[in-house]
Amino acid sequence: PKTVERIAAGEVVERPASAVKELVENSVDADASRVAVSVENGGIDGIRVRDDGVGMDEAAVRRAVEEHTTSKIADVEDLEAGVRTLGFRGEALHAIGAVSRLTVTTKPRGGDRGTELVVEGGEVESVGPAGCPEGTTVEVEELFYNVPARRKYLKRPSTEADHVQRVVTGYALADPDVAVTFEADGRERFSTAGRGDLRSAVMAVYGREVASAMVEVDGADLDLPDGPLDGVSGLVSHPETTRASRSYCSTFVNGRYVAASAVREAVVDAYGTQLAPDRYPFAVVFLDVDPATVDVNVHPRKQEVRFVDEEGVREQVGHAVERALLDK
Ligand code: ADP
Ligand code: MG
Repeated sequence: PKTVERIAAGEVVERPASAVKELVENSVDADASRVAVSVENGGIDGIRVRDDGVGMDEAAVRRAVEEHTTSKIADVEDLEAGVRTLGFRGEALHAIGAVSRLTVTTKPRGGDRGTELVVEGGEVESVGPAGCPEGTTVEVEELFYNVPARRKYLKRPSTEADHVQRVVTGYALADPDVAVTFEADGRERFSTAGRGDLRSAVMAVYGREVASAMVEVDGADLDLPDGPLDGVSGLVSHPETTRASRSYCSTFVNGRYVAASAVREAVVDAYGTQLAPDRYPFAVVFLDVDPATVDVNVHPRKQEVRFVDEEGVREQVGHAVERALLDK
C-alpha cells in the first residue's frame, strides 16, 4: 500500500491491543457466543481471534477487507440515530491488512462452504475454499512488518501481552453471556464460562479470592444524587482483600467497554482511607446514561470517553461506590 495508507492504518492500529480490540468487537457484533483470543510474543508475531458468530460468504469476506466497507450502517440516518453495533467505520480489517499478513477463514452460519482470504501488506494474495467450522477466524501475523516506525515504538512483548489481556478482559466482563478465552504463547490466562453471571466472569479473570469478596454496587437500590447517570452498577473490591498495586477499573457505558479516567478516579476516591497505603481497588462499573451526554470515540484510536458533565458523573459514581462500601 501507499505510504499514506500505511499512516492511516496506524491511526486505527497502534499496537497489538488495538488490533485485538477491533477483532473482538467484530466477533461480538457478529453475534458470537464464544470468542477465543490468542497471541504470540505479545501479539507482535501473531494474533488469532476465533468466533462462532454469523460468519461470511466469499463475497462478504472480499468486501470486508476493502477500504471503508461496513455491513453495519445503511445510511447517514443510522449514524445520527445512534449506532448500536460496536464497529461502524468499516476500516479495521482493511487497516490491519495494510500493515500485516492477514488471514480470514470464515463460514456463514448454516452455510455449506468456507472461505479463506489472505491479505499481505494491503494486497489480496489469495481467496479460496476452506474447510472450517461456522464462524470466523482472523489471524494477524507480523504486525507492522512494513511500518518500522510503529514496530520500533512497541513495548516489550510481555507489556504488549498485558495490554491485550486488559482489552480482552473488558469484553469478557462487558458480556458475561459470551464465553471468552485468552491465551498468550500457548498458555491460557483466563477463560470465562459464558453463563451470564458477572461475578463468575470476574472470578475467571481476577481469581476466586478477589471475586468472592467483591462488593455489589446496585444503582437500583441507591438514591443517586441528580446528575447525568440514570444508573450505576457493578462490583468493586472489598477494601480488606484489595492488594493490587495499581487500580483495575473496567468501565462500561451503556454496555460498551470504554476507558473513562474520571470514573476510575471517582472509584478510587470513594475508598478514602479504607485502603492500605499504595493499594488500589479492582472495579467493574456499568453506567447507564443518555447517549447524548457522552462523546463516544470520535477518533478511532481514542478509547477514552468524555462526559458533558464530568463532575456530575464523578459525584454519582463516588456516591454509589461509597454507599456500597458502607453496606458491605
Ligand atoms: P466495521 O466493524 O466497522 O464494519 P471492519 O473492518 O471491522 O468494519 O469489518 C468490516 C466488515 O466485515 C463488518 O462490517 C462485517 O460485515 C465483516 N466482519 C468482520 N469481522 C467479522 C466477524 N468476526 N464475523 C462476521 N463478519 C465480520
Ligand atoms: Mg469492526
